Amino acid sequence: MTNVRGSAFILFGPPGSGKGTQAELLAQHLSLPHIATGDMLREQVRASHQRGAEIKGFMQAGNLVPDEFVNELIANRIAQPDCTSGFILDGYPRTLRQGQTLLHLLETRGIRPVVVHFKIDHDVVLARLSGRRQCPQCGAVYNLVTHPPKNDERCDKDGSELIVREDDREVVIRNRLKAYDKQAGPLLDYFKRAGTIVHDVDMSRVTPEQITTRIIGTIKSADQPSSNPS
Ligand code: AMP
Repeated sequence: MTNVRGSAFILFGPPGSGKGTQAELLAQHLSLPHIATGDMLREQVRASHQRGAEIKGFMQAGNLVPDEFVNELIANRIAQPDCTSGFILDGYPRTLRQGQTLLHLLETRGIRPVVVHFKIDHDVVLARLSGRRQCPQCGAVYNLVTHPPKNDERCDKDGSELIVREDDREVVIRNRLKAYDKQAGPLLDYFKRAGTIVHDVDMSRVTPEQITTRIIGTIKSADQPSSNPS
């Protein structure tokens, strides 16, 4: 039986595969912190530190932010007291070097890595991401098809007019998918070679809630690598 406490759940999949939604649902169900590097980096850009403009350049082009910067952000975040009994990682690691750093950090803290690998066709991702809208005020994310706001294109929480994120433009989405493809294989191979549990989930078929239930069921009952809940 996988021990939910003391585990780091690594949600791994292409942009637009539903990692963010699943991370939020899982965080609620499992009472663990949700750590999303994309959100942390956007926060850095907003705070406009010296490196903010540089980071923004990488993000707007759909390229990855350099490993050293992201690794440091994560090392600081998971050293916080709310992470001692586990957490949910959304969007990290994305490269082999990030994966190596993470496994080392987890080992020193006695936290077990559990990878949840989201599988989805790139065409489905393109269709989904082009419908994505975000609130510029509170950061809430909607989708005009799968999770529309109640009123027009306005935020349910604060009524702000929703925007298309700069990196959700089609040309940028294609670039982000290319970046994912390049890194995904070596990173998954690395996890498997390191003996990390990897659960495959097919994201294209069922609703987010059904997927969450399956993931939780699998996490709780599985003690074997590479089991498949889909
Ligand atoms: P996301 O919100 O996860 O789709 O991330 C948005 C953008 O932030 C990505 O396209 C990257 O430019 C950057 N980013 C997020 N997480 C990472 C990461 N682990 N490593 C490098 N860049 C990242």
